[in-house]
This record gives sequence, structure tokens and C-alpha cells, in this order.
Amino acid sequence: MKRTRLRICTAKRRYGSEADAQAAVEQATIILRPYRCDRCGQFHLTSRTKGKRIARPAG
Ligand SMILES: [Zn+2]
Repeated sequence: MKRTRLRICTAKRRYGSEADAQAAVEQATIILRPYRCDRCGQFHLTSRTKGKRIARPAG
């Protein structure tokens, strides 16, 4: 069972939708990927692009 660290969740900026997160990704100067947080249900950005599955919203 995947667990998101509370510390990361609270420290990171939250985006209410994947579109908002994606917009932030496009403005960033480094490679980021949005992922949905299990804890808060919103989106955070991660700079890790390897070995991590990205949760995709259903539908
Ligand atoms: Zn979170």
C-alpha cells in the first residue's frame, strides 16, 4: 500500500487540479511531474521522474 509522507504533503505546494499542476510544470525550469496525493487528494509536483508510478485520475 502506497503511503505519502505527511511531511512532504504539508511542505509541498498543493494544486487543486491536475490542470493547475500541469500549468506549474510548464512554467518550471526543471523537469517536474504532477502526481495526486493519497493524503490530501490534491496534486503535488515531484522532480523524480524515474521509478515512480504516477497516479492518474480515473476516467
Ligand atoms: Zn498532499
